[in-house]
Amino acid sequence: MPELPEVEVVRAGLQPVVAGAVITGVDVLDHRSLKRHHGPSDDFVDRLVGGTIDAAVRRGKFLWFPFEPAAPHEHPLALVAHLGMSGQVLLRSRDAEPDRLMRIRLDVDSPALGPVRLAFVDQRIFGSMALDETVPTLDGRAAGFSAPRLLGSPSSEAADAAQQTAVQQVAVQQVAGQQAAVQQAAVQQAAAQHAAAGGQTDAPAWAIRVPRQVSHIARDPLDPAFDEARVITRLLARRTGVKRALLDQGLLSGVGNIYADESLWAARVHPEQPTASFSRARARVLLAEVRAVLLRALGEGGTSFDAQYVNVNGQSGYFAHSLAAYGQQGRPCPRCGTAIVREAFMNRSSHLCPRCQRVPGSPRT
Ligand SMILES: [Zn+2]
Repeated sequence: MPELPEVEVVRAGLQPVVAGAVITGVDVLDHRSLKRHHGPSDDFVDRLVGGTIDAAVRRGKFLWFPFEPAAPHEHPLALVAHLGMSGQVLLRSRDAEPDRLMRIRLDVDSPALGPVRLAFVDQRIFGSMALDETVPTLDGRAAGFSAPRLLGSPSSEAADAAQQTAVQQVAVQQVAGQQAAVQQAAVQQAAAQHAAAGGQTDAPAWAIRVPRQVSHIARDPLDPAFDEARVITRLLARRTGVKRALLDQGLLSGVGNIYADESLWAARVHPEQPTASFSRARARVLLAEVRAVLLRALGEGGTSFDAQYVNVNGQSGYFAHSLAAYGQQGRPCPRCGTAIVREAFMNRSSHLCPRCQRVPGSPRT
């Protein structure tokens, strides 16, 4: 299932291609993939065709494409891609053999690559595409990431370099045999736009607007506008277990089951530890581990154990090789050697080291 790192890999791969791209044709092959679109599919197609895409933007694991419609519309619009369990947005050449599970086809003329195809591919149809009106962000800052890579994230240099390499690899693969110089210009333009948006000055109008369908989603911990002090205050005010809070997309977004387990293991925190028992310092450590885990996954292209999930080029990520706790039950904890255990959590599982991750006050073993 795609989480923040996987979606960011997809977004970063699409951004240089879609920025300034004109939509020349749209074909809805499976109408179930429009279930979150309020209106008939004719409306979906008519509004998109002739429009110009501004950027590929992500908040948490939500991806959208603000665009300027050919015919003026009452409110600014964005094409929202809900990837669900198995959705992908793949970059294809126009004459490529159609993907078997392609649900929606968008043909675009890209300033960087010329005529290309965006294929919305989804096996299980939990994902969808929708046109949605956008609303201003509450804090007036950029709604999400639209740069070629995560700019201004509080990452270590190593993680940053690893991530940059991953994004570059995607970019390099995309332009193989094509106009690398043109794309580089598009990348630089997008970076300038993002820097402007982060600085709140001269941000393009689309950058500070968020689709209504995404507006209830909190900012993710890699977002330059993530308000850590406020999130920690809200976290400590909860009366719940810490893992449940991490997964609450209204508190912070982009942390799913895998990365929650990995972050809790790294911070040596038991998933059921009451948030009320946390200190601010402990919460800061945990959020730092969340960022580190997300950035490391990003550097490795996301998790690969879900064979359904691939990046824009159809390649899986490799982060599964680096997992310390998630799915590692019975294997030794990389820190202390104790066998990792799996415990029931809501209707899923938690994976943890029973020695490193104790609830404070529990008896030592
Ligand atoms: Zn351990």
